[in-house]
Amino acid sequence: MVPVIALVGRPNVGKSTLFNRLTRSRDALVADLSGLTRDRKYGEGKVGGARFIVIDTGGISGDEEGIDSLMAKQSLMAIEEADIVLFLVDGRAGLNPADEMIADHLRRSEKSCYLVVNKTDGLDPDVAISDFFGLGLGQPLPIAASQNRSVTLLIEEVLSELPEQEADVLPEEFKFSTRIAVVGRPNVGKSTLVNRMLGEDRVVVFDQAGTTRDSIYIPYERDGEPYILIDTAGVRRRKNITEAVEKFSIIKTLQAIEDANVVVCVIDARQGVTDQDLHMLGFVLDAGRSLVIALNKWDGMLEEQKLKVKEQIQRRLEFVDFARFHFISALHGSGVGEMYRSVDEAYVSAMAKWPTNRLTRLLEDVVAEHQPPMVNGRRIKMRYAHQGGSNPPIIVVHGNQLDNLPASYKRYLQNKFRQVLGIKGTPVRFEFRVGD
Ligand code: GDP
Ligand code: GDP
Repeated sequence: MVPVIALVGRPNVGKSTLFNRLTRSRDALVADLSGLTRDRKYGEGKVGGARFIVIDTGGISGDEEGIDSLMAKQSLMAIEEADIVLFLVDGRAGLNPADEMIADHLRRSEKSCYLVVNKTDGLDPDVAISDFFGLGLGQPLPIAASQNRSVTLLIEEVLSELPEQEADVLPEEFKFSTRIAVVGRPNVGKSTLVNRMLGEDRVVVFDQAGTTRDSIYIPYERDGEPYILIDTAGVRRRKNITEAVEKFSIIKTLQAIEDANVVVCVIDARQGVTDQDLHMLGFVLDAGRSLVIALNKWDGMLEEQKLKVKEQIQRRLEFVDFARFHFISALHGSGVGEMYRSVDEAYVSAMAKWPTNRLTRLLEDVVAEHQPPMVNGRRIKMRYAHQGGSNPPIIVVHGNQLDNLPASYKRYLQNKFRQVLGIKGTPVRFEFRVGD
């Protein structure tokens, strides 16, 4: 599971500036799930080769009374679920009583916690941090988030100190299986769907011997193909289906998305497409995962209701139009078999490998059909293409003046590559590199 970094601190110390830095590494569409948890922001972070989830827990002003009201319940939960807490203080403003209260809480929380002194640009870092040793949270680490100074260093350092994760013990034959995450808002029907997917006649679920902790990975086989379901709905931890659903966790949902090959995003068709659904889909897109969208509870809906939902999908879900949509009833099992076909199709596309000569020939064909425009009297040149990664597929194009390639031409490339390579159900990323 990818690590989770929570940012805490008073208002105005630079948390959102740092958040934006950490999530900007690629055109990050920040998943603002604020509809689910008051003013918490969740984003997909990338620094160097490392991926992580970053949470901006919102400000703690110190005007509130008592630590419980100081840190809202959700904020505490975010800290509890985080692997690393970065406690930001303001190197210009110096130590503040609210800092001491927050530090007091963090010292007792047994979390891996780092004291980060922000806004040290233009200051002597040694002087700037000297105020904060007294907080008792170890060596203060100076950064300047708005100048992007020491930010990469900080993240690399805190990630490198994470203890090795205990790997889930999975049967050997599941090494190359399709990892499916079923995600969605509370009550959309995730656990009903998970039970349906596992309960089919053709499915053989394997027990996980030797697993020490509450496992969330469920390995099974369907028609001889190995799958792993990443269980965010807590199906396996409930004694029976009627038992109350344990609290919905955004962090677990985001981790499952990161960890999956294919995400099945469940939407309650009776409620229509909500803003929270859009935010969750934004995160899936941002993480580059392949996607199948299940509009659940399709049973017993009126014709006019169905039409309205279909119209809404066209309007609001255009940004994930690479995904297949399924109108299903998890309760009755209708549409679930077809959904598996889309999952398999998306997996194949997400993991596909194409040789450099095939991609380069395709690039030549596509360019011959429609030349890129002239810039300052010179034509933009694309020389060759190679594959830079899978899940999502990354196509790296090498050439000259690629910074000037218009968005419309990038879309044209993307569409052509999708069409010719038969890429279905997954986002595709293009990277443009000048020179060799
Ligand atoms: P938040 O309330 O903790 O999320 O703080 P913000 O990220 O909104 O930042 C508050 C103010 O501090 C903004 O005006 C930022 O531009 C400024 N700021 C953030 N980081 C730095 C920094 O590294 N140096 C300086 N000089 N200003 C910063
Ligand atoms: P979760 O919170 O997303 O895991 O949702 P659950 O699977 O617990 O389902 C929430 C409620 O929706 C339960 O009462 C289910 O019986 C009901 N439900 C789930 N799927 C369907 C469906 O396809 N049709 C109908 N009518 N109800 C469903």
